[in-house]
Amino acid sequence: MTTSAVHSTEHAPHMRRALVLAGKGIEAGELPIGVVVVLDSKIIAEAYCSDKGLKKLHHPELLVLLDVDGRGYSLRERQSMTLYTTLEPCVMCYGAVLSCCVGRIVFGLDAPIDGALARIGGPTLAEAHHPEYQRPEVIGNVLSNESRVLFEAFIDQSIDSAMTAFAERVVAGVLVSPAAPLSEANR
Ligand SMILES: [Zn+2]
Repeated sequence: MTTSAVHSTEHAPHMRRALVLAGKGIEAGELPIGVVVVLDSKIIAEAYCSDKGLKKLHHPELLVLLDVDGRGYSLRERQSMTLYTTLEPCVMCYGAVLSCCVGRIVFGLDAPIDGALARIGGPTLAEAHHPEYQRPEVIGNVLSNESRVLFEAFIDQSIDSAMTAFAERVVAGVLVSPAAPLSEANR
């Protein structure tokens, strides 16, 4: 079995639940982004995109981590958790994963506009000496086509021009133009 096949077998069921949640986001007029957190093969928290209007920080990754963070999990338990998200997390949400000491991120579709992976540097020397600040393992491109289909469905029905523009760039997999106003990169 190849590495990718192992990943697919392990991760597909949880990513499929995240995709279902992403679909609920569309039904609510939101971007199709669904997230679950898994510990010991069980989903312990889930959310979907609900930042409609002026709530710029209500990304589903952040919502699930705020939920998990208040439950008193040990560092070892946190480091055993995996956060599944249908879209590559932004820098804010990646930082929240880091601060929450969640051990792994598995995502579906690349986020060419605000995805964290292209915007962060390499590991720091301090991380080697402070286990609680270890960066999470990151695995991408898990059921990414299924996530893309949801973004295409969102584009077909959305009347929000800024969110539609964001979704179109995600589907196209292109970087935002430096000349474009930042307000257009709205999720
Ligand atoms: Zn985010």
